[in-house]
Amino acid sequence: MMHYFDTVIVGSGLAGLRAAIEASKSGSVAVLSKLYPTRSHSTAAQGGIGAALGNEEPDKPEWHIYDTVKGGDYLADQDAVEVMCGDAVRTIVELEHLGVPFSRTPEGKIAQRRFGGHTREFGAAAVRRACYSADRTGHAILFALYEQSERQGVHFFPEFHVLDIEVENSRCFGLVALDIRTGEIHTFNAKATLIASGGFGKVYKTTSNALASTGDCLGILFRAGIPLEDMEFFQFHPTGLYGLGILITEGARGEGGILVNGKGERFMERYAPTIKDLAPRDMVSRAVITEVREGRGIRGGDYVHLDLTRIRREILEERLPEITTFCRIYMGIDPSEAPIPVLPTAHYAMGGIPTDLDGRVLEDEKGSVVAGLYAAGECACVSVHGANRLGCNSLLDTVVFGRRAGTAIGASLKSAEKGEVSGEGIARAKQELDCILTGEGREHAASLRDELQKIMMERCSVFRNERELRQLVEEIRVLKERASKAGITDRGRRFNTELLEAVELGHLLALSEVICLSALERTESRGAHYREDFPERDDRTWLRHTLASQTEKGVEVRYKPVAITRFQPEERKY
Ligand SMILES: Cc1cc2nc3c(=O)[nH]c(=O)nc-3n(C[C@H](O)[C@H](O)[C@H](O)COP(=O)(O)OP(=O)(O)OC[C@H]3O[C@@H](n4cnc5c(N)ncnc54)[C@H](O)[C@@H]3O)c2cc1C
Repeated sequence: MMHYFDTVIVGSGLAGLRAAIEASKSGSVAVLSKLYPTRSHSTAAQGGIGAALGNEEPDKPEWHIYDTVKGGDYLADQDAVEVMCGDAVRTIVELEHLGVPFSRTPEGKIAQRRFGGHTREFGAAAVRRACYSADRTGHAILFALYEQSERQGVHFFPEFHVLDIEVENSRCFGLVALDIRTGEIHTFNAKATLIASGGFGKVYKTTSNALASTGDCLGILFRAGIPLEDMEFFQFHPTGLYGLGILITEGARGEGGILVNGKGERFMERYAPTIKDLAPRDMVSRAVITEVREGRGIRGGDYVHLDLTRIRREILEERLPEITTFCRIYMGIDPSEAPIPVLPTAHYAMGGIPTDLDGRVLEDEKGSVVAGLYAAGECACVSVHGANRLGCNSLLDTVVFGRRAGTAIGASLKSAEKGEVSGEGIARAKQELDCILTGEGREHAASLRDELQKIMMERCSVFRNERELRQLVEEIRVLKERASKAGITDRGRRFNTELLEAVELGHLLALSEVICLSALERTESRGAHYREDFPERDDRTWLRHTLASQTEKGVEVRYKPVAITRFQPEERKY
C-alpha cells in the first residue's frame, strides 16, 4: 500500500512527538511506531528533565552548560550544548503549558531535585536542577505530547515496523514498513523523513532499556552509507537492580540515597570528594565495578548496596513511588527498611546518527547534508552529551532538538521536492523478510541474540581493552555468519514477532561491530569509554569525534573536530 505525507516520522517517543506537533503546523504528518505509541521507551523515564529554573536555589543556564560540557568529558559540541541549555527554561514552561503535571514546591512552583553532575558555580556543590513528575517524568511528558499530537491531526500508524529508509544520491525519499498486524508492506513517500527511533541498549545483556530498543533505523541508515558518530560511548547507569538491570533513578541519590560497599563504607567519598554519590554516571559505574573487583562487594560478591533507608518514608512514597514499587515487586525489598542490591546497567547511547543543530542528517565529516532526512532524540548525535550524558539531559535533548527538527522541516516543505520511494527499497525490504522466512537452519534469532548480549557485556562494557575487543569483533563476525543461516519456526505473516526479532538481530549485530571497532580506534579513556590499556584522556590526539561508515572494504572510521566555544578541557575532578 502507498501513502503520501509531507512528513513521515519514525518513533513516537518524546523526540518524534515533539517534532510531529511542530511539523504538523505546516503540512500532513505520519508517525510510525513499532509499538503502541505511548509504550515508547520515553514513558519509562523516571527521574527528571534538567533546566536551570532556579526554583529551589540559585541556578543559571551558564552553570548548566559548564556541567554538561565537563560531564561529557569535553567531547560535546559546545555550540549544541549552548542551544540546549539556553532553551531549557523556555522548554519547561512550554511543557507545562502543553499539560505536563510537574511536581510542585509548597509555594506551587515547579519542584526541582539534585541529580548527578549538576552543580552550582562551576562545580562548587550539587544543585537542584531536575524538574520532575514524581518518578514518572517521561510518562507525564509523553502523554501530554501524545494528546497534543492527536489534537493537531497527526496520523498515527501503530505497530508498523520500519524495514528500509531510502537514501540515494544524498537525498531521502521516504521509507518502507511492515504492518505487524496484517503482514502487509506499506510504502511512505514524503518530502521530509525524521528518524526518532530511540536507543539500542539491547546490544547488552543487562540493560535498563525496553525490549524494543534495538537501533533498527541506525542499522538501516548505516547500511545505506550514512556514518554513525561516537558509537564507542555507551553509558552504564550505576544503579540497575542486581541481576535484572531495571533502573533505580539517580533521583534516589538526589533525594539523599548513598552507595555502600561490603565494608559498610560510603565509597564515593574516595572517588568524588566534593559531590560524592552525585558524581557523573561514568565515574560512579567505574567506582562500583572497582569496589567489586577489589573484593569490597557486599559479602565479597559482585554487587554493592544503594541505601535509601536514610530517606523519610513519606518522601519515598511521594517522590519515588515507582522505584519503591519496583523494589518490592522484583526484589521483595522495602527500600525504606533495607538497602537495595545494585550493579551498573547499560543505559544510554551517546553516539548515533550525526546531525546539525536543526536535526539535518550529515553524511560526512565535512558536514554535507542529506536532503529530506532528519534525526532527533537518542538515535541522533548532535552532540550535546559528548562522552557521557548527564542525568536529565536526554529528555531535554529530545524535546529541544525534536522541536527544532520539526520547525526546520516545516520551513523546508514549501520548496522541498516530493519524494517517491523506488521499487528498489520495496524489493530490498521484501527480500530481507523472504530470506528470513525461508531459513532452514537449526539455530534461531533469539538464542544468537542472547549470545551477542552476553559477549558484549563481558568484553565491551564499563572497562575495555584491545585484546578483548579484537576477540569480540571476531566473535561478532562468526555470529553474523551463523545468523545468516538461522532458521525460523513461525512462517506466518500476521504478528510474526519471531520474524521481527530476526530483523532486529541483524541491526544489533551491525551496531555491536561498529561499537567495538570505534572503541578499538579510540586509544584513550574519556567519559564512558574506559580503555584499561590507555587509562589517560589524550586531548592532543582524541579531542575529536569518530564517524564509522560502511564501505566496500568494510567499516572505515573517520574523524571530525569538536566544537569548543567557552570551556577549554580541564582535568575532570568532582
Ligand atoms: C528506564 C529509563 C529511565 C530514564 N530516565 C531518564 C530521566 O529521568 N531523564 C532523562 O533525561 N532521560 C532518561 N532516560 C533516557 C531517555 O528516556 C531516553 O533517552 C529518551 O526518552 C529517548 O526518547 P526518544 O524519543 O529518542 O526515543 P524512544 O522513546 O525510545 O522511542 C523510540 C520510538 O521509535 C520507535 N521505533 C524504533 N524502531 C522502530 C522501527 N524499526 N519501526 C518503527 N518504529 C520504531 C519505537 O516504537 C518508539 O516509538 C531514561 C531511559 C530509560 C531506559
